[in-house]
Amino acid sequence: MNLPIVRYGDPVLRAKGKRIAKVDEHIRALAENMIETMHAANGVGLAAQQVGEAVRLAVIDVGAAEDQSSTLKLNGEEVDAKASMPLVLLNPEISLGEENILGVEGCLSFPEITGDIARASVVTARAETLEGAKIEIEATGLLARALQHEVDHLNGILFVDRMSAVAKVALRSRLRRMKKENTPR
Ligand code: ZN
Repeated sequence: MNLPIVRYGDPVLRAKGKRIAKVDEHIRALAENMIETMHAANGVGLAAQQVGEAVRLAVIDVGAAEDQSSTLKLNGEEVDAKASMPLVLLNPEISLGEENILGVEGCLSFPEITGDIARASVVTARAETLEGAKIEIEATGLLARALQHEVDHLNGILFVDRMSAVAKVALRSRLRRMKKENTPR
């Protein structure tokens, strides 16, 4: 089922996700619907907050990104990143590598807005799967960027928070308008 994506201004985007203690039917259906919603919107990732639920669940798919490569080590083993998509990550924790790289980012909750964001070029993440397995991921490229973007969402952090002050000034009136449109009175 394709779910409505909430936009900037909706308070749920600022809510910290609750840890998922048990994978039940609701969580399974939510993950499946989030994958469908992400694909329908041509996104590379989606966090539960973006469909209105503040829980620690994110989905990622870098498989359709032709122009940006990714590498993925799954539990220490090099695997084909694109063939391993989509990823469903529960309760992910992330460690950032030291080197940062600037790249263009967008977000499905901010239609038509993009910005240059500095992100770690390598990340390690630990997460659980829907099947209850614990996995460790080491990623570079677009996948590393997407992981950082989605884990930020789970903590109520948005990509505009990480934009330079100059970039934010340029977007100020559009962001203000969007926020006003989507904040419930
Ligand atoms: Zn986003």
